[in-house]
Amino acid sequence: MKISEILTKRKKGFAFEFFPPRTRKGLVSLNSTAKILKRCDPLYMSMTYGAGGKTRETTREAIYMLKKDKDLTLMPHLTSVGAGKDDLKLIIEEYAREGIVNIMALRGDPPLDEAGFDFSCQEISYACDLVKFIKEQGDFCVGVAVYPEGHIECSNLDKDMYYTRKKIDAGADFAVTQMFFDNRYFYSLLQRMKKNNIEIPVVPGILPLTNIDKVKQFSSLSRTTIPKEIEKELNSLRNYPREMEKTGVEFTIRQCRDLLNNGVTRFHFFTLNKPKVITTILEALT
Ligand code: FAD
Repeated sequence: MKISEILTKRKKGFAFEFFPPRTRKGLVSLNSTAKILKRCDPLYMSMTYGAGGKTRETTREAIYMLKKDKDLTLMPHLTSVGAGKDDLKLIIEEYAREGIVNIMALRGDPPLDEAGFDFSCQEISYACDLVKFIKEQGDFCVGVAVYPEGHIECSNLDKDMYYTRKKIDAGADFAVTQMFFDNRYFYSLLQRMKKNNIEIPVVPGILPLTNIDKVKQFSSLSRTTIPKEIEKELNSLRNYPREMEKTGVEFTIRQCRDLLNNGVTRFHFFTLNKPKVITTILEALT
């Protein structure tokens, strides 16, 4: 089923994002993680696409494995970085044949080893071009990324919204946000979108704050503010990983409760393929 239809029908619920495992063992483990999280009646489950298109095969393998469960609504991510139109067309056509109707369309990040990578030289330069291309290939529901604090390469929020608008105008059906830890950024993104007459559903992307070093690493690559107080608290627990995880999970529960209290009732969890942290959070919220 198309996620756009699900979001029209269901005003509350949780979605889960996974990354494709590289090993057989990892795939088996992902299968059981998906089974556990399926009990929460997810809105949908999505599968990332590795940096620079590096997990092209594993993304498809993992999605097709989950697809054996006919009840799941699935969405593979797809990036255009490093890929030509022909490559992308082959993947999209295969998804259509396999009955995949949802795709998350992303530009992707510049390759780490190529300083000054020029996206405009690509056949498909930006996510807006990919959205348009996917829509031309078939009847897909397309999700896009949006950025509460602005995309890291974008110099200001007006410009960020200008390019966000292009993705929506190209036909994006819904959006998922970059992780954020201070909800004020999310509320102000919603206001900016409203001001720009953007009306597609926006699902907040939630990363449980369980490991401060990993989150700092993600944050530095994505322009995400970690509130000083929680950073300090988690830093002090560096030698006590269980305590750090417990404190981080409590923070995420408070973050989600604040969103719920402000009328936000759908969540996209970056699960890191770990079901336990997610189920603990969901139990506290429901
Ligand atoms: P775009 O919307 O194309 O924007 C990228 C930058 O270019 C922005 O600074 C924008 O302002 C600017 N821009 C946009 N259009 C134009 C234009 N026409 N002219 C000039 N400048 C323009 N990455 C992966 O590799 N795999 C994944 O699976 C993945 N999943 C993600 C899931 C979510 C929910 C999020 C939030 C991000 C994900 N990413 C993933 C990361 C994403 O690929 C990066 O954030 C990337 O840097 C930007 O992707 P985008 O689709 O937002 O790009």
